[in-house]
Amino acid sequence: MIQDIAPHHFDNAYHSYAPREEDFAIYCQPHQVLLKRQEDRIIFPTFQDLKKRNDDILENATYLFQIDEFRFFLVKHVNPEPLSGFQMENTEIFRLAEPQYLAFAGITAYQLYLWYESRKFCGCCGSPLRHDEKERMMYCDHCHAMEFPKISPAVIIGLTHKNRLLLSKYAGRTYKKYALLAGYTEIGETVEETVSREVMEEVGLPVKNIRYYKSQPWPFSSTVLMGFFCDLDGDDETVTLDANELALAQWFERDEIPVTPSRDSLTNEMIMAFKNGLV
Ligand SMILES: [Zn+2]
Repeated sequence: MIQDIAPHHFDNAYHSYAPREEDFAIYCQPHQVLLKRQEDRIIFPTFQDLKKRNDDILENATYLFQIDEFRFFLVKHVNPEPLSGFQMENTEIFRLAEPQYLAFAGITAYQLYLWYESRKFCGCCGSPLRHDEKERMMYCDHCHAMEFPKISPAVIIGLTHKNRLLLSKYAGRTYKKYALLAGYTEIGETVEETVSREVMEEVGLPVKNIRYYKSQPWPFSSTVLMGFFCDLDGDDETVTLDANELALAQWFERDEIPVTPSRDSLTNEMIMAFKNGLV
């Protein structure tokens, strides 16, 4: 999965580091990140790369995280003049770009960018927020409200019946591959209750034997995904589709699942685990 970057080590502890010239400077705009692309490989600019055209780049940087000895900072207002091959690229590139640890760094930095962009003002009193110095938090000096990074819990559901797995396709989205059922956890429910509710809402089927598989940070939607397998309760496989959410939902025999391995998502790993008889 995209976060599996061993032997590289992701360290997300917050520090009030000042950037050094060799550190990576991540510049984002909606759906885009500045990087250089060499076939399938990507590299981000360092402060050394950017400082010639951007006088204040070192002063307006926000420390994000570290991978091995490499530190990553968010920067603002980069001069868009051509920068020796660096250009804005769509964040979808991070699903499959190499090296994987830089792809994971890029999409995780983009998630933090989205959070910082949406936390400029206090949600309680409307005053400007400022960066806290000790932790990754935005603070309101007027009413003392504290804002921490937003992560939404969601579930991915592998619904099985004997030797069959239910695959779906989303309605009205650009993502057209087969997926598993999925949904956000609502206030007041456990994640196991989310599994039962989402399956009933999306395909009208009861479930039993809900069992946890694995989790995954999914920065593309600021979620943490929790994967569960569960069994159909009963023998009636008839699907009642929620057409607002899904374009189709279809049962597949284990060895006829039309999905191939992809390194990015928990969904793909779960489908392949079932296809290969591992669960
Ligand atoms: Zn406030």
